[in-house]
Amino acid sequence: MNEVQERAVEETDFSSSSHEKIYCANCANCKIVRDMHGGGNKYYLRVRCMAGKWRKKLGEEKIYKYFTVARRSIDYCDAYVPMGDPKEFIKELKKTLPIKDELYTI
Ligand code: SF4
Repeated sequence: MNEVQERAVEETDFSSSSHEKIYCANCANCKIVRDMHGGGNKYYLRVRCMAGKWRKKLGEEKIYKYFTVARRSIDYCDAYVPMGDPKEFIKELKKTLPIKDELYTI
């Protein structure tokens, strides 16, 4: 290996392509559900991991507010089912997400 080739190897970032961040919102297991409120005709939107990966410390299932879904990311998940190009998807999702926890009426 000559000097130029050695420098090229040193400058290559092998980690970036194989360790891209996983956005849960781009996974088929990430589902939006209604959290009924106030007598049954109002609801908040929540997100659940249908593969059961979101857990509290004591093992109870954790659900998140829908407007925060773009923030849910992990380095690796053995149940990740990608639904498309994550960068493009998250970019478009951020444009449509509510900015706070909204109360909806049926
Ligand atoms: S299966 Fe993994 S990647 Fe998919 S929503 Fe659950 S935790 Fe996120």
